[in-house]
Amino acid sequence: MKVLTFSLAFLLSALGVAGAYTVQKGDTLYNLARANNLTVEELRRLNNLPSDTIEIGQILRFSESEPLPPPIIKPAPSPAVPAEPPKAEVPSGPASPTPPKAPTKAAPKPKTAPIVVRSGSNFTVGGVQVILPEELGMGDAFSVRLSGIDASSAQVRFPSEIGEDVRMPNEMLTPFGAAGVYLVPGRVVLGKTTPVIVEIKVGTEVVRAVIPLRAVGKSAVVPLQLSKGVAAKLTDPGKAAEDALVNTAYERRGLPLWTKPFAAPLSSTAFAGSFGQSRTYVKGGPVDYHYGADYPAKLGTPIKAVNDGTVVIAGMYPVRGGLVMIDHGGGVSSLYFHQSKVRVKPGQKITRGEVIGEVGTTGISEGPHLHLEIRVRGEATDPADWFNRLWP
Ligand SMILES: [Zn+2]
Repeated sequence: MKVLTFSLAFLLSALGVAGAYTVQKGDTLYNLARANNLTVEELRRLNNLPSDTIEIGQILRFSESEPLPPPIIKPAPSPAVPAEPPKAEVPSGPASPTPPKAPTKAAPKPKTAPIVVRSGSNFTVGGVQVILPEELGMGDAFSVRLSGIDASSAQVRFPSEIGEDVRMPNEMLTPFGAAGVYLVPGRVVLGKTTPVIVEIKVGTEVVRAVIPLRAVGKSAVVPLQLSKGVAAKLTDPGKAAEDALVNTAYERRGLPLWTKPFAAPLSSTAFAGSFGQSRTYVKGGPVDYHYGADYPAKLGTPIKAVNDGTVVIAGMYPVRGGLVMIDHGGGVSSLYFHQSKVRVKPGQKITRGEVIGEVGTTGISEGPHLHLEIRVRGEATDPADWFNRLWP
C-alpha cells in the first residue's frame, strides 16, 4: 500500500499536477519562459540552472511557491512508470559468460540522405513545415520559419554564404522558439547578387531551397566630403582595437532576450536610402557600403534602445565615436554611433525604449545624427526590416 501511494505521488508530480512541469520534446528554456511570463534568466534562477540547456524529463518550477526541483535531470527510474521503454538489448544467451559481438545484426550505417532541392517558399522537411521568403534583396533581414513537432530539432545553414564576405559563413544554426513557431534569422550581405541557398536538416532528411534575389539597379556611389580632422580618424591608431572589439562582440550567440517587436530609436525618420548606400570615404578610394541608417536629430536628443538586451560595448571610440552595442541574443545586435553622451555601461540589462545615450557628432561624423545598425550574426541588415516586428 505504501508503495502504491508513493508511485501515485510520483506520477502526479511527473504529470505536473503538483505544479511542477516536466520538460517535453521540443521545449526550450526560451519558449517555456515565454509561456509562463518569465524571462529566461528568471526561469534559470528559479531552477538553479547552470546553463540554458534543458533535457526531456527534467522537472522545472515556474514560481517560488513551488518546491525547488532536483538539480539534475536524470529521471529517477521508477519501476511503476518507466520514463522510457527499455531499449532492446542483446539477448543474453543461456549461460554464455562473455557473449561474442552482438549476434543481432548491427544496424546498417544510415546512408547519408541525398540532399533534396526544393523550389517554392513553403514545403516540409522531415515532417516540419518550412516557410521561406519568396524573394530577398541585399541587406535584408529575414526568417526561416519552422513549425511542427520536430521543428526545434531542425538544423539550418546557408551554404550560399561560402565564399561571401561574411563572418562565420555556413554556420550551423538551431532555431529559436517563439509563439509556437521556431525560426532562424537570416541576412543577405550587402553586395550580394546571387540567390540565397538555405539547407534544412530534420532527422535524416536534408532539403536545400533557393531564395531568388531581387535585381537592383546600380546605385550611384556617393563620394563623402570629409573634413581633414574627420578624415584623419580613418587612420587613427586606435581603429584596429575598436574594430576587434566590435568583431568579437559579433560572435556572441545566446537565446533571444526580447519579447516585443523592435521599435525605432528616435521619433525622427532615417534619411531615405541611407542604409546600404555605396560610398567612398576617400576621394578615389575603395567603395564601401553604409551599414546603418542615419537619423537626423538635434545634439543631445535621447536615443532609445530598439529592444531588450545586454549592453556589450559602451564608450568613446575613434571611428564610431560615442558607441553603444546591445546584444539582443539570437545573434542579433544593435549599434548606435556618434553619440555625444553614452549613458549606459557594459553588462547592463536594457529594456526596449530605455535611453542609452544622446545624439552627437563624435567619430567619423560631419554633423549631429544617429547611425543605427541592426546586425544578424555580425552582418548589417536594414533596420526598417525590424521595426514593429518581433522577427523580420
Ligand atoms: Zn551612418
